[in-house]
Amino acid sequence: MTGRTSRLAPSPTGALHLGNARTFAINWALAQQHNWTMLLRIEDLDHPRVKPETINQAREDLAWLGLTWDTETPIQSTDVGPCRAAFRTLASSGRVFPCDLSRKEVQAAQSAPHDNYDGMRYEPTLRPADAGRPWNEPDETRTWRFLVDDREHTVNDRVSGTHTFNLGRSIGDFPVWTSQGPAYQLAIVVDDARQGVTDVVRGNDLLSSAARQQAIATALGLDSPRWWHLPLVRGEDGRRLAKRHGDTRISSFRAAGVPTERVIGLLASWCGVGDQTDPQPMDAAEFAATVEISTIPTDDAVLTARNIQWLTDC
Ligand code: GLU
Repeated sequence: MTGRTSRLAPSPTGALHLGNARTFAINWALAQQHNWTMLLRIEDLDHPRVKPETINQAREDLAWLGLTWDTETPIQSTDVGPCRAAFRTLASSGRVFPCDLSRKEVQAAQSAPHDNYDGMRYEPTLRPADAGRPWNEPDETRTWRFLVDDREHTVNDRVSGTHTFNLGRSIGDFPVWTSQGPAYQLAIVVDDARQGVTDVVRGNDLLSSAARQQAIATALGLDSPRWWHLPLVRGEDGRRLAKRHGDTRISSFRAAGVPTERVIGLLASWCGVGDQTDPQPMDAAEFAATVEISTIPTDDAVLTARNIQWLTDC
């Protein structure tokens, strides 16, 4: 092993579909190629959206695809102590402030719609006058926002290059703690750091989150991992792969008797391996031996009706 570590981090908010599978397969292939240790971390902090039955299904789907891991970390929600400690550090150093505004109130204060952030920019005018004061006993039943600064944050991404984000002018102060416990942005930073994750491979819909996560890491005195943000898979209508595009769940292909090699072959064709209109069956090991991060198309992949036919017509 090289001392580098990555993680497969499914969220059990739905079943794994072909788009998630492609990201996980590339993540796994990179780990194989570079001798990284691989963790499995089930990320179930998005409480209202978690579907408990998809936790085991994610493990089974990954195993069926041949994507293995060395260790599984505790399910995120069962192990939030370190996140709580980090939150308290941020509070005592004045990096967070409590916010009792509803989603509607935050939205109503916006000067212009901000599509990139679910329409949820937090306007600086909403910031309380005493933001920045230390809190030694922060009330964990409230929402707490991270105080962002008005400067450029550079994210160096190993797939898509260098990006700059001004958090103050884009998303604004964002939640790191809610009445439900740690928010996604904080949990990722704390868990990646304590679990020794050095390489984060995920969809490029999370690229702007990387800037937020770097800002939190810096405030906590932690190193940020290396980032590898990958293009996504879309339907022929140009929208991100979802239910509207039919049943693309890995578990459904598995139940229908589609061979794993067909699924991996399709993922490979989306990664620029061979003729993209004529996928070839292959297993995960062959995928890892052939896929090259530098030649994966930079445009999002498109799931076509022909792709589905290729999976199901065998
Ligand atoms: N669990 C997240 C997801 O499925 C991934 C989070 C991350 O990689 O930082 O979208």
